[in-house]
Amino acid sequence: MTEKTPSDIIRSNKARSVAFHTLGCKLNFAETSTLKRHFSGRDFSIVPFEQKADVYVINTCSVTMDANRDCRKVVRRAQRQNPEAFIAVTGCYAQLEPDEIAAIEGVDLVVGARDKFDIFSLAGNFEKPDRTIIHRTDVNEAFDFHHAFSANDRTRAFLKVQDGCDYKCSFCTIPLARGKSRSPSVDEIVANARNVIDDGYREIVLTGVNVGDFGSHNGETFLDLLMQLDRLRGLERIRISSIEPNLLSDDIISFAAQSNTVQPHFHIPLQSGSDEILQKMKRRYRTDLYRRRVETIRNVMPHACIGVDVITGHPGESDAHFRTTMDFLKSLPVGYLHVFTYSERPNTTALGMSHHVSPKIRKERTHKLRRISEQKRFDFDSSHLGTIRPVLFEQELEDGRILGWTDNYIRVSMPHDPALVNEIVLCQLDDREPNKAVRGSIAASELSHKASITPRITIQQPVS
Ligand code: SF4
Repeated sequence: MTEKTPSDIIRSNKARSVAFHTLGCKLNFAETSTLKRHFSGRDFSIVPFEQKADVYVINTCSVTMDANRDCRKVVRRAQRQNPEAFIAVTGCYAQLEPDEIAAIEGVDLVVGARDKFDIFSLAGNFEKPDRTIIHRTDVNEAFDFHHAFSANDRTRAFLKVQDGCDYKCSFCTIPLARGKSRSPSVDEIVANARNVIDDGYREIVLTGVNVGDFGSHNGETFLDLLMQLDRLRGLERIRISSIEPNLLSDDIISFAAQSNTVQPHFHIPLQSGSDEILQKMKRRYRTDLYRRRVETIRNVMPHACIGVDVITGHPGESDAHFRTTMDFLKSLPVGYLHVFTYSERPNTTALGMSHHVSPKIRKERTHKLRRISEQKRFDFDSSHLGTIRPVLFEQELEDGRILGWTDNYIRVSMPHDPALVNEIVLCQLDDREPNKAVRGSIAASELSHKASITPRITIQQPVS
């Protein structure tokens, strides 16, 4: 049999369809988008995951036990849709548990996190093999950085600026799945951002595993990156997806406060409000530092929204520790919480700790914190009613109304008008129902000097 040349392979890919499913974080979504571009550049047509496809690619996460279960469900769904389809599974779960995934019926290729951008060469011509192919290399040898960005529509782009992590938090498998911290140069990210802006995006969300660690291995800093992006002509909004409290320096906060582009929105992982549990978790700060960060932000940007990650039920978390966490969170002037329930993960130090919390109590604690989060969100949004804020509208609709985000991360809805899509509009925030977006209207100050019903604001641009 004659061997197929690359052009044979590309020719036979024509008219094939591929569908993608992503589990987990924004970084995974950014990387799936880049994979999609790889496939469409090779004449595959991209179809929604709910449709029958020739190839299914599943980009997994392993942060929680649920993520593993979710992955198994998604593989089965793909198989139901087309039992003949070639199914490739990649991402963190594939890196950590390749044999577990290979054992799921229908999976043809398992590719570890480090090699996800090599799916094309590893899959041959996407013919179903007799036995599942497993390809996984040691993440400790992952020194390369793959650029990636994703977008929900043509409004906000999630730009990958960093990968991996050098920390050793007790509960976390990410360093095991993604390897050491690494990032490209400021210049490379600025060039990528330039392309994203030229494609029409108004907002860039800086994404990574430990974004604040950007540049730590090449003598640059995350602040250097922010300062260069801030000067980029045409970039109207920069949002930081999440940043560790020990890396969110006062200099970054003051720069954000005076920048026209860095949005007044910080997502800062806390994980526990008890210093004893933070120590067990091997986190690199204590609650006093966390509180100081929040207060500094509030002092210079009283309107900023602050989001908090928190984990319930880490081993050793007693009722008293949990009460301390609840009290700490209640006392913080923050806008919302992202609450995660601790789950046992292989090869983590938390797994070997004593005093594991029962799943029932973990769930109850999660429920309590989610109630606090709802109240915080309601209070934050309500405190801005009657004020005017710039809103970037997206294509998404809810009950026939168009949705957008303010600079300080309030979800706003307006009567649908297609001309609003991808526009930044000054809106008055009128009212809010629980668990709904705030209802907005075009600000009177805008209407008074613009004839159009879709006025735009001009964001001041520094000269670059
Ligand atoms: S900082 Fe901690 S929780 Fe975050 S990715 Fe690194 S090890 Fe995991």
